[in-house]
Amino acid sequence: MSVPTYPNYVNGAWRTGATFENRNPANIDEVVGLFVRGTPEDIQAAAEAAQAALPAWSSLPAPARGAYLFRVAEILERKLEQLAEEMTREEGKTLPEARAEVRRSVNIFRYFAGEGARLPGLVVPSERERVHTFAIRRPIGVVGLITPWNFPSAIPAWKLAPALVCGNTVVLKPASAAPLSAWRIVEACHEAGIPKGVVNFVAGAGGELGRALVHAPPVKAVSFTGSCAVGTWLHGEASKRRLKIQLEMGGKNPTIVLADADFDQAVENVVNGAFFSTGQKCTATSRVIVEEPIYDRFLEALVERTKKLKVGNGLEPGVDIGPAIDQAQLDTDLRYIEIGTREAGPPVVGGRRLTGDGYDKGYFIEPTIFAGVTPEMRIAQEEIFGPILCVMRAKNFDDAIRIANCVPFGLSASLQTTNLSRVFEYVHRMEAGLLTVNLPSAGVEYQLPFGGTKDSSFGPKEQGPAALEFYSDYKTVYVKY
Ligand code: NAP
Repeated sequence: MSVPTYPNYVNGAWRTGATFENRNPANIDEVVGLFVRGTPEDIQAAAEAAQAALPAWSSLPAPARGAYLFRVAEILERKLEQLAEEMTREEGKTLPEARAEVRRSVNIFRYFAGEGARLPGLVVPSERERVHTFAIRRPIGVVGLITPWNFPSAIPAWKLAPALVCGNTVVLKPASAAPLSAWRIVEACHEAGIPKGVVNFVAGAGGELGRALVHAPPVKAVSFTGSCAVGTWLHGEASKRRLKIQLEMGGKNPTIVLADADFDQAVENVVNGAFFSTGQKCTATSRVIVEEPIYDRFLEALVERTKKLKVGNGLEPGVDIGPAIDQAQLDTDLRYIEIGTREAGPPVVGGRRLTGDGYDKGYFIEPTIFAGVTPEMRIAQEEIFGPILCVMRAKNFDDAIRIANCVPFGLSASLQTTNLSRVFEYVHRMEAGLLTVNLPSAGVEYQLPFGGTKDSSFGPKEQGPAALEFYSDYKTVYVKY
């Protein structure tokens, strides 16, 4: 079967050129697609096209921009099954997870399409007589969007849709490990008739294209999701040009399990948060902090439940956990298993790359648990981004909160308890941007603000009404009548 080639998209036209491969991490013999390797010149051309398209797009009534987004949602919804299967093949997550992600992208487009008829500004009374004051939202201009591979559809969607409805034009640079899902969204924008130059897509090497994007003169803002190292570098470059910038980066998310929790539900929530999507969610649980009286029993139940998880090709029914995204992530996982073994002793479950039995062609790894982990250990401090869970002991609730907060990150956190008073203490004391109670630490909805605190994030939040704060600016008006 011939392998399809996916060109870049600049000024409404498909651009071909030299390509790179997008391989299936569950079966590295399968090339999912060939993507055109964009160049800094492509980024420059894309930014100029976006600049040229800006006056007409930003002058369109916002509800008309919203109407285009409704059409994009319809197109994605019609192709949901195809897009989900492609996502599993390019990223490795299971088919039900991929379906849920495409559904979420559809919902995101619909939500921001509706925002076109709202785009709330401000009307407040003036302190002067016969003066009417108000503030309207204006777009920022050309926005660069840089996205990671782990939510290859939802993250491009939750950046593109609010950027467009606010009247901006964009240059999207997807992750090289999983560019197809983002490409499908851009294809849907094209099919929906979004005018040329409004949406541009350039795939290729992050370092080279990222530098070109942040230095392209028309670009006025950059929204980035990815690693702390790249985010920090981008922030420095963007600051030199005084670009508006938004960064969503790493996490080391805790789940606190108190002795009064619904025990079985807490076990399920921790297993779900730690291992589903192969632990490759920025909101995944990587530390579970268990109150002393139930520590031993909880650890035992966690290990037993983890042993029942099925690792395999996400297209097969019954599989819970797919592969790591690529060799580099698999190597990182195995390196941290070595570090963890030195620090905390051998894992109580898992710890190995899976081989034989249909596993040889993919980057499969066992879900792994380290017990008796203490806060100063590297496995308790550094983001791993794989199916590796640290179990930590807390004397009581205060101790658990102290341990939970004792990392540089602050993305998500979860608390398992039936004590309402503890819930509100946690809400006020936990240093994280996304909190859950009696749910996994991962699994967020599009209609609420999303983002972290501390080293995990920088700038305004994404999603929900908060997204408008990044993608628009106020123009304030005083009228004497
Ligand atoms: P990454 O290596 O930082 O890559 C993210 C994106 O940045 C990719 O498109 C990448 O392109 C590009 N890039 C690489 N070097 C660049 C540079 N010098 N300048 C500009 N762009 C550059 O991260 P990843 O491995 O894809 O994703 C995993 C990380 O993302 C984890 O740390 C995870 O926690 C974080 N994440 C955070 C959130 C959140 O909302 N907080 C959500 C999801 C993921 P290439 O692919 O071509 O290298």
